[in-house]
Formats: sequence, C-alpha cells, structure tokens
Amino acid sequence: MNNITDCFGTMVFDDTAMRKKLPKETYDAMRRTIKDGKRLDIELANVVAAAMKDWAIEKGATHYTHWFQPMTGITAEKHDSFISPTKDGKVIMEFSGKELVKGETDASSFPSGGLRATFEARGYTAWDPSSYAFIKDRTLCIPTAFCSYGGEALDKKTPLLRSMEKINKQALRVLKLFGNESVTSVKTTVGVEQEYFLITKEVYEKRKDLFYTGRTLFGAKAPKGQELDDHYFGSIKDKVSEFMHDVDVELWKLGVLAKTEHNEAAPAQHELAPIFTTANIAADHNQLTMEMLQTVAKRHGLVCLLHEKPFAGVNGSGKHNNWSISTDTGINLLEPGETPYENAQFLLFLSAIIKAVDDYQELLRISVSTAGNDHRLGAGEAPPAIVSFFLGDELTEILNAIESESAYGGKEKELLRVGVHMLPKFTKDTTDRNRTSPFAFTGNKFEFRMLGSAASVSDVNTVINTAVAETLKGFADRLENAECFEEALHDLIRDTVRAHKRILFNGNGYDESWVKEAEKRGLSNLRNTPEALSHFLDEKNVKLFSENKIFSETELRSRKEIMLESYCKLINIEALTMIEMARKEIIPAVISYIKDVSKTIINVKNAVPNALTDTEEEIVSSLSALASKANTAVKELDSLTATANTVADNADCADFYLNSVIPKMAELRRICDEAETLTAESYWPFPTYGDILFSVR
Ligand code: ADP
Ligand code: MG
Repeated sequence: MNNITDCFGTMVFDDTAMRKKLPKETYDAMRRTIKDGKRLDIELANVVAAAMKDWAIEKGATHYTHWFQPMTGITAEKHDSFISPTKDGKVIMEFSGKELVKGETDASSFPSGGLRATFEARGYTAWDPSSYAFIKDRTLCIPTAFCSYGGEALDKKTPLLRSMEKINKQALRVLKLFGNESVTSVKTTVGVEQEYFLITKEVYEKRKDLFYTGRTLFGAKAPKGQELDDHYFGSIKDKVSEFMHDVDVELWKLGVLAKTEHNEAAPAQHELAPIFTTANIAADHNQLTMEMLQTVAKRHGLVCLLHEKPFAGVNGSGKHNNWSISTDTGINLLEPGETPYENAQFLLFLSAIIKAVDDYQELLRISVSTAGNDHRLGAGEAPPAIVSFFLGDELTEILNAIESESAYGGKEKELLRVGVHMLPKFTKDTTDRNRTSPFAFTGNKFEFRMLGSAASVSDVNTVINTAVAETLKGFADRLENAECFEEALHDLIRDTVRAHKRILFNGNGYDESWVKEAEKRGLSNLRNTPEALSHFLDEKNVKLFSENKIFSETELRSRKEIMLESYCKLINIEALTMIEMARKEIIPAVISYIKDVSKTIINVKNAVPNALTDTEEEIVSSLSALASKANTAVKELDSLTATANTVADNADCADFYLNSVIPKMAELRRICDEAETLTAESYWPFPTYGDILFSVR
C-alpha cells in the first residue's frame, strides 16, 4: 500500500468506522462510554456488536476474540468463529452484545500466583471500550481486561485502568482549585520508544540459546562491536529499511501511530517510536508493536529479538516510557505554560511527581524487575538500578530558589513567588539529554528509562499513575482547606521540594561516586530482581495499592509470587540450555579439534622426527584443560539446578538462582568463550558473535 493516509486505521473499528456503521444515538452513547468510561447498556451493546461484526466480515474476518494481557506479559487470545447454526442445518454469522461485553475463559492455565487457591478456575474478560477493536489474522480482536469471578485482576490492563481512574479523580480536584471548571476528564498519555535487535533467521536457527531463551548464553566478543559509534543513527540497510516499512504499514493499518525508526547504538540494534496516546491504548499498541516486529521479521527471513540483553558486551535493549497528563480540553499539564498561574499549576504537578517518585522509588524499580532486565540496569549502558529524577539545570535552579527562599533571576534578583512570577522559558535542549537518568523531565513530559525491551508498559504506568494520584490527593486535601490558596500553594511546593530533593540528580548515573552519594541520601539501590521484590510488600506499598483499590493485599502477594516464579523458571531454562549446548555442542567440538590436532602432532613427528610441534601441543594442552574445566562446571551447574528445583519457597528459590546458579552459569560461559577463541573456526558448532551481529547485510 502506497498511500499512508489510505491505509491508516483500515483494520480498526475506530471513530470513523463507528460513525459510519452505528445509528446516531448508539454512536453518541459509544462516544460517552469511551470518554467517561460509562457502561453501555445491553441493547446498545447488541447494536454495536452487530455493526462491529458486519464491519469485520466485510474486511474478511471470520472469528472474534477477546484480546487480553495476562501476567505472562504477552497477549492472549482465544478465537471463536462468528458462525452460529440455524434450524435448517445452515449457519449464520452472529455476534451479540453479550459476547462483546463479556467473555468467559478458563483462568487456571494463566499465572495467578496462588490466587487460584482462593477463587474458582473460571475467569472472565471484560471489554475496554476506550481501546478500539481491530482485525488481525482475520480475527476481530476486542481489547479486554481479565479478572477472576471474585473480581481479582488477573492481567495487566485492569490495574492500569483502575490507576487511570484514580489519577483522573485527583487531578480534577487539583485543577478545580486553579479554577479549571471546563475540564471533565484527565488522562495520562504515553509514548513508548521500543528497541530491538534484528538478525537473520539463518544464524538464529543455529543457536539453541537464542531459540530457547531469546539471548546468547555463550559467545566470545567479536573484534568489532559498537565502539566506533558507527551504527547509531547511521544509514539504514536496504533489508532493514524494507522490514521497517512493512512493520509501519502493518501498524498503521492497526491504527498504531508508528512514527520514528532509526538505528540504535549496538550493531543490529534499532528503535521504533510511535506518537504518544492515552496510556491504556499505548500499552495495547506497544503489545501489537512487539508482535508485529516479530511477525514481519519472519516474512523477511529475519528474527526480531526483544530480549533485554541478547548479547554480552554490547548494549541491551530498553523501552523508554514517555509519560504525561493531559486534559480533555487538550492541555498537557506538564507544559510549563505562559502565565504565572499556569506556571504555578505546572510546578504543583511537577512537585507531586517528584514526591511520588521519591516515596515509591522501590515500586518503580520493582515494576521493571525481570531476570532479563537485571543484565541491563546498572550495567553502564542503561540507567543504574537507583531511581533518581533529572530536572535539568534551569528547573533545578528554580526549585532551589523556591526551596531555600533565596533570590533568583538575572539582573534584578528577587524572591521567586509561585503564582506571581513568570518562569523563564526552558530550552528543550537543556532539559533533554541526560541518557543516564532513570526518570527525566524532557520539556513537557517525563521519560522513564528503566524498562526492558520485552516488558509490558502496563505495570510501570500503573505505579506512576497510582503514586501520582496518591500524592495529588494529599495536595488537594491540603489546598482545599487552605485559607489563602496562593500562600498555601507556595508553601506546599516549597515543603515538597525540601522533603524530596534527595531524589533530584542531574549528574552522571553511571559514575561510581553516584552509588555512594545515593546511599548517603538514603535512596534505594536494589541491584537485582530478588532484592527488588523483597520490597514489594513493604507496608507503604501495600497501603498505596489497597487504599487506592488498585490491588488488594492478596492480589499484590500473588503478583509477587508470579514475578518470583517466572524469574526462577527463566533462569532454570537458561541453565538447562547451557548444559545442553556445552555437553552436546561445545565440548564435542573442542574434543574433535583436539583429536585432529593431536593426530597432526603424531603424523608430523612420524614424518619429521625433529619437527617443531609446539604450536599444536600448546593448542592441545590449553584446550584439553578448558574442556576438562567445562566438563566440571557443567556437572556442577547440573547439580545446582537440580537443587534449585527442590527449594519450595519462591523467594528462597530466586535467591538460590541468584547466588548459586547464575555465578556458575557465568563461570561455564567464561570457560567456553575462552575455548571458542582457541578453536579453529570450522570446528565451532554455531554462529559466533561476529556472525550474528553482522548477519543482516
Ligand atoms: P526524544 O526521546 O528523542 O526526545 P521525542 O521527545 O520526540 O523524542 O519523543 C519521544 C516519545 O515521547 C515519542 O513516542 C513521543 O510521542 C512521546 N511523547 C511526546 N510528548 C508526549 C506526551 N505529552 N506524553 C507522552 N508521550 C509523549
Ligand atoms: Mg528517548
């Protein structure tokens, strides 16, 4: 398809399609449902369902599915066809309002972290009308939330939607205080920059580690990596560019606003960014983006790796979560504004976010914790595991002036009064480029950079929304009761900055000195997933989620168990894959090389008794020593994984993997990688780092 405007949204039951297909009253009711989250009654739902079905059939769809996001982190779908038998033995195509609004599904095969023990196995999916239905693979996909019959959330969308309601409510209270009566709803907006690697199918299929785990578990460094900085924003190869175009077209058809594509820092690494949209839709769209990247890659004889760290020694892949809050009147609340009053409102929201990030820094860290992301965070390429907040120099200076009640400004320095004085215009550049900061103000939004490339963005946005909602609630309580609003506002901002300035840091997060400094400031440094998860049920976190009705304590507990469980399972698979590759591929390859070189020694000596065979002997002796070490390490790893499987408690088990299994995996890798550098290329059993990283030419 050439014409982008023609293909955009063709597979989406969006506003245009609804306007065309729905009777006027039904269309208006749908609009209200989408805007205010009002429920659609069943008669109207019947009308919508029938129109949706006709539209979908016209586009070639035969099935429908409730499309949802269980806690596996990926999407799930169960396809039902539209056909319904008639009395005369024929079929008609049917789809009712009931089927649109609610679906039943067996919840027992999805992770529930022990919740299953307390509720029955059935779950249901409930339509999220604010995210448009779309057609994928001849199937009408209806974005839904997934809950148990007892109402416990079993997915990632439910809590996100709950958190959006909370921030809406509290932000409206605050806006009212500023005299903003015309705003009726506030939504968080999200734009997700997605990084990924692209390699050929040919090399992928020869690597068991990539196949089973999405990352390489062995591999000596290639002579060339990313040190020349020649890939970042470099010209895009034809093959990649064709792939990117195809991805764009598929995403545009699905209404995803794919916008920017470029090469990233590491060889074979790229990025795709859409134009931002409402948080829950952005989360759905990011799931679709990840799926399309992988599907389209296959069509091009390529494989898209979404793993956070597919290769040691070159950058891993992250996902930047750009976040802001907007009103239904189209105002971005994180835009500093044009008048002192707008500035004051901006500063209030800004300080709420500062407080929220400081108060709930552990939760932010937890929301990005996976075994894969542990390889990135703090590895000198991604933000450190310490959460801090980057404001840029200008804004920091302003907050400092408010906080210390000191003079501010150029020639005529005076005390900065919130709501009275104008803030200077920030140039975007000075607020923009601190790549090492986990949470950075970038002019009119925040960029959270700790997310790994494979993650769903729902968890982190649930945390940000809820934490900011909670903070705004406290602010609104204080301001609503104030005698003089302007005084109270000024004091509130000053007090908030005073209490939370420890989280503000504009410096280099990769620097060793920051770790010490952060410790002095009392900031958390949760280095890995088990350590992070040990804070999940901290009292303040349970309180935050339960009081805001995002998660009950039971739901939280179950989420923690699920995260621990998948951490353990993942590392277990990695360890088993290493054992298999070492035993069946690496050690045999090394032995066969040793054998041939040894034979050469004998042959040479037979032919020329005085000939020098020191090179051959050195190879044989180094490699047999390494083969023997590898063999020992494999046996030890084997026995450690067996032990890990006997540890019943998930947290203990995760600790065991962290402290015993992972170090042994690293040891085995070191030995095998060294053997790789000494073994003749033709003997090595699978593609090397050089082969893989430069496979797409
Ligand atoms: P960069 O990270 O290079 O500075 P941009 O600032 O242009 O790039 O945008 C990065 C991402 O942030 C894009 O996905 C963009 O749509 C998104 N974004 C921009 N404004 C907002 C906003 N108000 N809310 C959420 N995301 C936004
Ligand atoms: Mg960015």
